[in-house]
Amino acid sequence: MKQDTIGSQVLAFLAGNLLDPTPFNYRFGYLYLTRTSKVIAQEADTYIDAGLRMTQEAVAEIMHKFAQVSEDPAERIAARDEALEMFLDAAGELARETQRQAGDMGRDIAEESEAIRKGAEGEDLKTAIRHIVDRADQAERELANSSNRIDRLQRDLDEARNKALVDELTGIANRRAARSTIQDLEISKVRYCLAIIDIDHFKSINDTYGHPVGDRALKLVAGALEESLAPWPVARWGGEEFLVIAEVPDPARLAEKVQAAKDDLAERKLKLRETDEPMNPITFSAGVAGSLATSEQTLRRADNALYEAKKGGRNTVLIAPEKGRVGDGG
Ligand code: GH3
Ligand code: MG
Ligand code: MG
Repeated sequence: MKQDTIGSQVLAFLAGNLLDPTPFNYRFGYLYLTRTSKVIAQEADTYIDAGLRMTQEAVAEIMHKFAQVSEDPAERIAARDEALEMFLDAAGELARETQRQAGDMGRDIAEESEAIRKGAEGEDLKTAIRHIVDRADQAERELANSSNRIDRLQRDLDEARNKALVDELTGIANRRAARSTIQDLEISKVRYCLAIIDIDHFKSINDTYGHPVGDRALKLVAGALEESLAPWPVARWGGEEFLVIAEVPDPARLAEKVQAAKDDLAERKLKLRETDEPMNPITFSAGVAGSLATSEQTLRRADNALYEAKKGGRNTVLIAPEKGRVGDGG
């Protein structure tokens, strides 16, 4: 009975997102609604929370990610093959449609040409020529139509991707984007470092000047961090927290850059836009960690270092202890 309920819930979920009830999509819906897979739950939630419809492309992308991080090699291969097959189906369908249109036009024009070749004269000749011209016009319109359709699909896809990966307030990468970057590094076994940056006493900015000024401060910090930490990507990790990922093995290098970013920010002369009243400099605390066996461990280690930095009086960058790093021999 329970099976029936989840089954119809999955079908309703697919229908609500205009997804075909294929076995591939059903599997996705099932894994999502039962929250069996953390990756699927997280990724799909981001779409759904943003009020976006789950497109077939999004499902394929998520299932592909799911396959990449799956512990089970058979699951990995199966999901990858299914995603690939789905893309091939879509591409094949487009190719067949184009071919069908081209074939129809070729046949129509061949018929009229045959009439002309057989010596059509007067009205017949005019009619045959007019048919050929009309048919060519029609083909051009069909072509423009399908190329518009493809452009529109591409734009929708880009927009959905963009919305799903960019933080609305600050315009920098969001948590989902950062997670995806970390996951990619983890999968390709690259050694990296990350820092969690948390603004000090941010609540007091809100309390003193109001939420809109707090929002502006967040935008300012986001921009300042991006500038100081480039080329390393900075994401908004949560409320007044940011995350930077550096593809270098040595956390001291990242810590040095984060320290410099902190100094740059402290040097900025801030004033209230409305009254020109000077504001206190903004400081932050940060925890830096080098990659461990799993990204969860790395994030936890950086978070602990951040906690220590706060406890020690804030306005500090702390590196997490190096023990347990892969490739360090201990
Ligand atoms: P600490 O030095 O310990 O980090 O203190 P804090 O005040 O920065 O930290 P706390 O976690 O107490 O408060 C964070 C505040 O950030 C509370 C929340 O209202 C605010 N905040 C989170 N997101 C936003 C946002 O998008 N805009 C604004 N204006 N404020 C936000
Ligand atoms: Mg915080
Ligand atoms: Mg804070």
